Order: sequence, then structure tokens, then C-alpha cells
Amino acid sequence: MCQNVGTWGRRTWNKKSAGLSYCCGLQNTLSLSIITKNSILRTVPRCVPVLYRRAHCISSLREIAREEIGKIKDSGTWKSERVITSKQGSLITVVGHQQLEILNFCSNNYLGLASHPHIIAAAQAALQKYGAGLSSVRFICGTQDIHKELEHKIANFHGRDDAILYPSCFDANAGIFEVLLTDRDAVFSDELNHASIIDGLRLCKARKHRYLHLNMSDLEQRLREEKNARLKLIVTDGVFSMDGDIAPLDKICELGDKYNALVFVDEAHATGFFGKTGRGTEEYHNIIGKVDIINSTLGKAMGGASGGYTTGPKELIDLLRQRGRPYLFSNSLPPPVVAAGIKAFDIVLNSNNLAERLRHNTKRFRDAMTKAGFTIGGSDHPICPVMLYEERLASVFADEMLARGIYVIGFSYPVVPNGKTRIRVQLSTSHSDEDIDKAVNVFVEVGKKLDVIS
Ligand code: PLP
Repeated sequence: MCQNVGTWGRRTWNKKSAGLSYCCGLQNTLSLSIITKNSILRTVPRCVPVLYRRAHCISSLREIAREEIGKIKDSGTWKSERVITSKQGSLITVVGHQQLEILNFCSNNYLGLASHPHIIAAAQAALQKYGAGLSSVRFICGTQDIHKELEHKIANFHGRDDAILYPSCFDANAGIFEVLLTDRDAVFSDELNHASIIDGLRLCKARKHRYLHLNMSDLEQRLREEKNARLKLIVTDGVFSMDGDIAPLDKICELGDKYNALVFVDEAHATGFFGKTGRGTEEYHNIIGKVDIINSTLGKAMGGASGGYTTGPKELIDLLRQRGRPYLFSNSLPPPVVAAGIKAFDIVLNSNNLAERLRHNTKRFRDAMTKAGFTIGGSDHPICPVMLYEERLASVFADEMLARGIYVIGFSYPVVPNGKTRIRVQLSTSHSDEDIDKAVNVFVEVGKKLDVIS
């Protein structure tokens, strides 16, 4: 039988063949099998013509996918996408609801820059001057002066030596650990870190310690136990995207000092607006400069287009340019996106007004919702999870909200753990007081209708 078969239990799934394993044989007599979690679903004899076998395999593939989809739907965690027909902003239009002006409370557009006129103008100018894209990775012929300008701006903003751009923060997280850590090293990761960190860590060979969420004594215990590592690296989200809770970075850095460990933080939900001047979780904890490596995104507060980065010691950035696979093997950021990023940093560097307005909006929403009887997760952050706990309730709740002109989304497994379903509200600078009050009123109306509050 085929040798190239992966097993789910041991996670040695053969990615190349994406579940279709194959044996070598005569061109027209290849044997094809579909592997499911537990068994080989179908094996088509070698003598059957290739075209027939392909159709046969595809129908098996459809069957497997349909089965999985059925399970997802039965569990109430199916995620359907709503289609927006306007720019991203606090006021949007949505297919199927054109008659309504929809207030958007679920984007990461924290500073309202996604459709800011200065950002759009900068992107348009870059499109004219530099074109749509580079048709190249950075090291071949994909680096323009604006890519270097943005990297310098990012490094200066964070007060670090240098920065490296990636197509996304997911890529920045997927690429860094494999480059930095070997089997002589050890990594300590908060159990609720973002999926991209989890995937990035899977790719590296370091010894892995998963510490309990935000639990400093568990982290310390694991640091104490880990002897003989060449490098120790503590890895955490600055702000956890599902819960809006904040890593105790001050304590993490103290432990880093005590046990000789480096500290890495993902600032996707902090850069540009969190901390007094938007420098992020380090600034929030008053420890600017203590963290060793920062990854973050341009796809949320900083213009909302796309792009991610690592900023830190020069030698690390130099090494990532040589070895970081998502950097070496994926296209350069498009010039309009780069120009939007540069403009976003300029806006944040020039004034603190947007971040202050966001703090005001966050407090207004959190206070009113708590007073109305809802349980709101996290603290101090514009991510406000309205806890509902039940899968089906969350999706019905979100539909009822949309029908009344408030766009929010239910978050269920696998995005959050089973039984921790919530509607994640996110505040933006672009919301007015009236917008927030309207959203709270609608939450109260729907909450009473669905017996969430009395
Ligand atoms: N890190 C965190 C904590 C995130 O929440 C996200 C996005 O959801 C990412 C990384 C990935 O960012 P990007 O959209 O730039 O890939």
C-alpha cells in the first residue's frame, strides 16, 4: 500500500498531497486513496482509467468535506460571511440589509484609519508613482525606497534597531521562531496565544512549554525547570484578541531578567492606540524598551490594509532577511499598502487625539453594558467580549442585532474554546457617543428578548 500516508493522531499529515496519498506506478494505473481521520475511505483499483479515478476521488473528497461541514453546522459553530458593499468604517452597508444604515462594531479598525482620507490619498499617490505591486519577493527585485522608509519608521516608533516587513503579522509569527530557535533552545508560550504564534512554534525545534494563561507562577515554575537551554524565549500576545485581556508584561520581563530569558510580544491589538501614546503593551505597563522582540500588524489600527513586521535587534532582523521563509518566498507588500502604513504611522506620531477618543469610547461602552447586566470580558481595552456562552444563542443574537442596524459577530469554537461563546464588540475612534448609546440600547433590547438579561 501507499507509504506516503499521514496520520491525524500523530499530526504527521502529508500536507503536500493534502490528504490524497499516492503510490508510484505506471502513468495510467496510479492507485489513489483518500485518507480520513480513522481509515482509508476508498481505494480505487489500479486498472480503472485515470479520469474515472479522479472523479471518484473528488466525489470522496466532497463527501468528507460535507460530513465535516454537517458536524460544524450541527454544533452551531458554522461561520457565514456577511458581504459589505461600502468602505470599512463605523457606518457601512451590507448585502441583504441595504435599506438600513449599519453601525459596525466588529472590525479591528481601532483608530478609524481604514478609510481615512489621508490614508486613501497616500495609497492613491503610491499607486500612481510605484504601481500596483512588485511581482517579486523583496530580495530579488521587490524592495522600493518606500519599503525601507516604512521599516525605518516602524523601528523608530518602537525605539528598536531595525524592522522587517512581511505580507502579514501571521507571516511574521509563522517565520520568526524557526529562524531563531533550535533544539538547543526553549520557548515558553501563553496557552491562549494567537493561532499564528502556535503555528510558528510548531515549525521550530525548540523545547516547548505552554504556560497557563497569564499565570506567572506557572511560567516561573517552567522557567525554573528548564536547564541548559542556549536561548530561552517567553512568547506572549500583548493583548489577547478573543478576551481583550492584557499580558502582565512587566512581570513577564521581570521573570525574563531573573531566568535569563528573552521576551517576545505580539502587539497586533495594541500598536498605535494602546498605552498613552499608542506604543502598545510595553507603554501600558510603563516598561518601554524592556521587551526584546515585537511583532505587529498594519492590518488593524495602522490603516487596516495588510502587512506585518518584526522589530528588534539589528542582528535578528538581518538574519530574518536571510532565513525568514514568509519573507524570502512571498511577494513584497504592494506600494499602496506600504504608503498607507507610512501615513498611518505619521498620523499616530503627530497626535494622540485618536487614541484618546478610543479610550473614551471604550469606557462609555464598557460602563453602560456592565450597568445593563451584561458580562464583559477583559478590561481597559476596546475589545469587549459580551459573554453569552452558548453557540446557537450567539449567532441568533448577532442576527437580531444586525436586523436592528448593529453589526456584531458571534465568536464560537474553534476561534474560542467550547462553552466560551461570545459576541466580540470592538470600539473604534470613529464611533460617536450616539453610535455607542444606540448599540447599547439594541444590546439591551435583544438581550431581554433572548433572556440574557432581565
Ligand atoms: N496576532 C494577533 C494577536 C492577531 O489577532 C492577528 C489577527 O487576527 C494576527 C497576529 C495576524 O495578523 P494579520 O492579519 O496581519 O496576519
